[in-house]
Parts: sequence; C-alpha cells; structure tokens
Amino acid sequence: MDCVFCKIAAGEIPSKKAYEDDRILAFYDLDPQAPVHILLIPKEHIESAADITEENSAIVAHIFAVAAKLAKELDLAQGWRVVTNVGKDGGQTVMHMHFHLLGGRSMAWPPG
Ligand code: 5GP
Repeated sequence: MDCVFCKIAAGEIPSKKAYEDDRILAFYDLDPQAPVHILLIPKEHIESAADITEENSAIVAHIFAVAAKLAKELDLAQGWRVVTNVGKDGGQTVMHMHFHLLGGRSMAWPPG
C-alpha cells in the first residue's frame, strides 16, 4: 500500500521518534505548527477516525494515554491540544489516522 505513514511505521521512511511500541508510533511532524508537534499513529492502517468502531477503538485510548505521558515528559503543564483531522473538509492530507499533539504555545479556539 502506498501510504507514507505505513512506511514510517515500518521504518522504510526515517522519522524522529518520540515513542514506539508494538501498536503505535509517535514521531515529530516535518512541518511543526507549535514548539512541540508530534504525530501519534496506529501501526495498523486505519484511514481516519471515521473508521473507528467499538471493535477497534482501544487503539484510540492507548494513543491518548501515550499523548498524556509525552505531554508530562515534555513539560507541557501549561496545556496542550490533541487534534485529528478527518477527510477533505476536516483538513486531512495523509489518509492514515493520526493525532497531532501540539503544545508549547497558547492556542486559539475555534481553529480556522
Ligand atoms: P493532516 O493534515 O493529514 O492532519 O496532517 C498530516 C501531517 O503530516 C502534516 O502536519 C504534515 O506536516 C505531516 N507529514 C506529512 N508527511 C510527513 C513525513 O513524511 N514525515 C513527517 N514527520 N511528517 C509528515
């Protein structure tokens, strides 16, 4: 499958890793939108959060637990944000579900 995040998960494309286990990988975004900008992905190819079901939803809880652990380790006590973009109008450009962990600056709401 021609998926850039599957290739990163397989180690075929290099990335700066923040966390890895048998189920997920967290790596630094190439084009950071905040002082801390990490992407958390399942190693299994899931296209987007639109494909989350009761059967596969445990991976999302695991991703959030690792996001919280990384936020603590990276000293984001002032606050942080997790975002997942879904589909064209949601701003998704890579069709492998990923969660952006953003921190290190104050963030506006609502996003543009
Ligand atoms: P999306 O717009 O789909 O929510 O986010 C995709 C993100 O992946 C973007 O922030 C983009 O900078 C990042 N990205 C795309 N290709 C690569 C890559 O090859 N390596 C890394 N580290 N980040 C990537």
